[in-house]
Amino acid sequence: MPQVCIGEKSDERAAVHELSIAESLLGILVEEARNHGIIRIRKVKLQIGELAAVVPESLAFCFELVSRDTIAQGSEIEVENVRIIAQCLRCDKSFEVEEQVFLCPECGGADIELISGRELCVSSIEGETGE
Ligand SMILES: [Zn+2]
Repeated sequence: MPQVCIGEKSDERAAVHELSIAESLLGILVEEARNHGIIRIRKVKLQIGELAAVVPESLAFCFELVSRDTIAQGSEIEVENVRIIAQCLRCDKSFEVEEQVFLCPECGGADIELISGRELCVSSIEGETGE
């Protein structure tokens, strides 16, 4: 399945907390499951960027609450952390951002573009199709 991401703009996402993320996630899952003929969701894999500021434990907790009495109730949530990768706009070097230092290690430039790290995506859904 193609990746489905929660929230298009990063600033919108920054304002939401885990409960609203869990609600959006549930909406996406139910719709995706329907599109794929899944009647009962068992396992969900998420890709969460380190900059998305999501605590996986609280997301799992909130998801458990919002998914009650839905086809996603009791599903297992697996979180894959996505590292923060940036590219320097001055020298083109791409590098991993560590400890929130957003500077190019090659030329020291601060003009950088984020390649990854803000993701909040569903990468796969497993479940029963009822066939
Ligand atoms: Zn550079």
